[in-house]
Amino acid sequence: MQIYHGIEQARYQNKHKSIAFIPTMGCLHAGHTKLIKVARSLAKTVVVSIFVNPLQFGINEDFERYPRTLDDDKKLLLDAGVDHLLLPGNEDIYPHGQEQHTQVYVPQLSQLLCGKTRENHFRGVATIVLKLLLAITPKWLLLGEKDYQQICIIQRMIKDLLIPTEIVAVPTVREADGLALSTRNRYLSQQQRKIAPMLYQSLLTAQQQWQSGERNVKAIEDNAIKQLSTAFSTVDYWSICNAIDLTPLANDTQQQKNNIIICGCVSIGNTRLIDNIKCATL
Ligand code: AMP
Repeated sequence: MQIYHGIEQARYQNKHKSIAFIPTMGCLHAGHTKLIKVARSLAKTVVVSIFVNPLQFGINEDFERYPRTLDDDKKLLLDAGVDHLLLPGNEDIYPHGQEQHTQVYVPQLSQLLCGKTRENHFRGVATIVLKLLLAITPKWLLLGEKDYQQICIIQRMIKDLLIPTEIVAVPTVREADGLALSTRNRYLSQQQRKIAPMLYQSLLTAQQQWQSGERNVKAIEDNAIKQLSTAFSTVDYWSICNAIDLTPLANDTQQQKNNIIICGCVSIGNTRLIDNIKCATL
């Protein structure tokens, strides 16, 4: 596995190849491994980046304490057959400082759901992903469905800016009890870890209700929020949405039966957990 410490190095090495690219923030787990596996099945060359991007963290968020486990990550990437690891430094990505850097903003989609409480988060995500896409020029960009809003935003950016890369969305990898794998699960105490799967359970229950014909959106949402509020300190949002533009569904919606997704976010102590589930019309 070749390691690039500079973004320019990645840029010139990878031009015009059959490349699949997976951007990450490191502290890799089986969710990331799944993305790599799908990438391996598509492309001759698999490139992974590890960069904890300060631009996507709010001032009171966990940038400083975000887990960094580079030695373990390198081992996982080697075992998974990754060809190139891009490990840029802050000065490399933001040569004039992050305040002075050009930023990419995807309107509307960036303001919904997580965007309501994480004001500049998606601006940071879109900026770093665009920069890495321009450096690596991959044919495929692998993204996890766990971060569904992120997929929608990057999809829109790719379409709007005519970027010749195709997104491959990979289903969420879960623990046996349903909790979506996430680097931030490391923050959970034993007690919190026991409660955490309730988020996914609430999504499954609602999916079942939806698929058996319930269309009272407000009743489904209120019920889930009530249940979750007994266990979690905050229910940031829990919303039945249109899966294309993430707008909330109107109550008693009869016409809109396809492309439904339920997105939820709860806080437990200082840790935010997000998850989602799609609803098919049966
Ligand atoms: P991160 O390192 O958290 O920025 O995630 C890097 C990529 O891995 C993103 O596209 C995530 O959506 C994806 N990812 C994270 N957790 C999971 C999971 N449990 N299942 C599938 N993909 C995931």
